[in-house]
Amino acid sequence: MLNIKDKVVIITGASSGIGEETAKELAQNGAKVVLAARRENRLKEIQKVIEDKGNTATYKVTDVTSFDEMESLAQTAHEKFGKVDVIVNNAGLMPLSFLNKRKINEWNTMIDVNIKGVLNGIGAVLPYMREQKEGHVVNISSVAGHSVGPGSAVYSGTKFAVRAITEGLRKEESASSNIRATIISPGAIETELTDHITDEDIRAATGEIKKMAIEPEHIARTIRFAIEQPEEVGINEMVVRPTVQG
Ligand code: NDP
Repeated sequence: MLNIKDKVVIITGASSGIGEETAKELAQNGAKVVLAARRENRLKEIQKVIEDKGNTATYKVTDVTSFDEMESLAQTAHEKFGKVDVIVNNAGLMPLSFLNKRKINEWNTMIDVNIKGVLNGIGAVLPYMREQKEGHVVNISSVAGHSVGPGSAVYSGTKFAVRAITEGLRKEESASSNIRATIISPGAIETELTDHITDEDIRAATGEIKKMAIEPEHIARTIRFAIEQPEEVGINEMVVRPTVQG
């Protein structure tokens, strides 16, 4: 039996792109969504769009690099809706650059958001899920978590790490506590992700990526598919890219 109605789902990076579409898709199908990101105005607008359709959403301004803020996010979801069924650790940044440009701050930010943010999400929800003896952690990696290209060394490193962490979580939790773990690895998707690239050589090449990119709603549907499976079915990983992406 497909099962998504009334599931309480925390979504990080819900203020734009894949996270925003995922929140709308899951809410439309009956989930109670808890939106998290830093831009409050965007979160408010998305909450309103969801509620205007008669669906359920709340939000909490959250920086995923802070474990305290992530714990408080999980606590808010639990207090408001009584349980935490799913977290979609989606928040991420992709300031691609060549290593010789030595963009040390961007390396650190990617590691903080893309890796530590996911770990903070897992750490925040795991006590609730273990108590409930069920739960589902969906982590957003990338095709860049499967192969590395010039300019993506650090970003790919973070996305390989997301896959490793998710697989480790699955192996640790699946047997004893019925907690599922899913990796979603998108290819080129039309979002704000490339806006933060400061390396001009790489920025010049992003036009080609944008040309082939598909809409974030396709990833939202993929995430929904993983979440709505019967509890004995674990989707471990899905790679979803534009048909024309090599
Ligand atoms: P967007 O730039 O549209 O969304 C990124 C989201 O992350 C925003 O909502 C942003 O919100 C949030 N975010 C960034 N930093 C933080 C932070 N410190 N704390 C909380 N939230 C944060 O891009 P996408 O939708 O494309 O990205 C979503 C995920 O998908 C990322 O993990 C990305 O790596 C992955 N991905 C995307 C692909 C693509 O082609 N678009 C391909 C493969 C993977 P705010 O600024 O309000 O905090």
